[in-house]
Amino acid sequence: MTQLSSVRADGSRVPIHPSDVRGRFITARRVGFAVLMAIYLAAPLVHVGGHPVVHLDVEQRRFYLFGGSFNAQDFWLVLFLATGFVFSLLFVTAWRGRVWCGWACPQTVFLEGLYRPIERLFDGPRERRMKLAGAPWTAGRVLRLAGKHATWLAISLAISHAALSLFTSAVDLEQMVIDGPAAHPVAFGWAVSVTALLHFNFTWFREQFCVVLCPYGRMQSLLHDRHSIVIGYDVGRGEPRGHLRKEAPAGPKLGDCIDCKLCVTACPTAIDIRDGMQMECIACAQCVDACDEVMDRIHKPRGLIRYASLSALEGKVGKVLRPRLVLYAMLAVAAFGALGFTVIQRRSFEANVLRLAGVPWVLEGTTVRNQFEVHVVNKASRPSRLSLTVTSPVPAEIRIAEPAVILQSFEDRRVQVVVTIERALLQKAIVLEVIATDHSSGDRRVQKVRFVAPSAR
Ligand code: SF4
Ligand code: SF4
Repeated sequence: MTQLSSVRADGSRVPIHPSDVRGRFITARRVGFAVLMAIYLAAPLVHVGGHPVVHLDVEQRRFYLFGGSFNAQDFWLVLFLATGFVFSLLFVTAWRGRVWCGWACPQTVFLEGLYRPIERLFDGPRERRMKLAGAPWTAGRVLRLAGKHATWLAISLAISHAALSLFTSAVDLEQMVIDGPAAHPVAFGWAVSVTALLHFNFTWFREQFCVVLCPYGRMQSLLHDRHSIVIGYDVGRGEPRGHLRKEAPAGPKLGDCIDCKLCVTACPTAIDIRDGMQMECIACAQCVDACDEVMDRIHKPRGLIRYASLSALEGKVGKVLRPRLVLYAMLAVAAFGALGFTVIQRRSFEANVLRLAGVPWVLEGTTVRNQFEVHVVNKASRPSRLSLTVTSPVPAEIRIAEPAVILQSFEDRRVQVVVTIERALLQKAIVLEVIATDHSSGDRRVQKVRFVAPSAR
């Protein structure tokens, strides 16, 4: 069994103190982290169409996403969303390896974008952090540790509240905070649990989440192929490795790797990428930046460690278009296309005809009476004014209890409809049309209902 670099043979944890790197990838990643954190944290605060951009009101089973409003009946749309997301991830992984992990996964974004910089602020660079880890427990060390954890805790609290406000809305959450824990014990329990979980994960568990827990990380060998663009070491150029010397050593000419191990100390999962592709590599490119800086200093071309396919690193021709890439792309486009089409076609309301229990018709002298209900639901995030009409192909007396209905967002109503037709006119099957029109959006729904009558004797 392969031994993880961050876990000893006895199961204990190897403490990891990645060194600080400078370079084009870490700069680009930091910009990306800032943008993504702003998006994560702003999602519950920014409003579109009177509701937050993302508000998952699980209790009321109402969901507001990017200006659209959905209820439990729309839950099947999640199937398209999840399918599209899964195939997009498969496509990106087959094409660009674990770019999601290193650049956009919330685990990396918050760890590298917030928690790790705070650690550096309190404890200094790698060497100082390592020294501190084994230093005696002085008052200064305790104070520094307390300050660091208090700052981390404040951040965990902020993230957990941002996450919870996706479910309660930021306004309601603010009111709960003002009311205090006693008034909202369940919400308080969630806030404490999520904060504790975040704190544990980002301050202690860290890379173990990626290498032990995350199922996506563990499936990498299935998702990559030799043509996927991953982060790799150019063995042909780097080997045989050897320390830099003023005079050329005797024996075979050395490769470009000076065995400084800066790529290893920069790695947040403590692997040596020179040993080849490993499951723990999250494609963060910190080793690329570290090695490029070394190459600059020794006046060698950059890219000894770089983004490349395993085929290209072996000097073979890489393939961009592969059947699996095309298949994943087509399936992702199909799923998102179906989702987009369904959402566009979606009406702002539902109107369904329901027959009442019992005999569906009533004989009254020479006439037959049918009675049913129209169940209308306003699915829009604003109030709606609906009108109901019923048409018949033959003369009929039509009574609608409420021909005009005003419904608040997600309010529903059952409207009674009674249709009476002379029996003599029922020689042929009669199909009524129930037409519901939303005057706020202009949407219209037409339901066909068969008029039910006793068979002629
Ligand atoms: S940083 Fe570059 S030169 Fe240094 S050990 Fe790693 S691969 Fe070799
Ligand atoms: S090997 Fe390089 S890219 Fe992979 S996790 Fe380590 S530093 Fe990041």
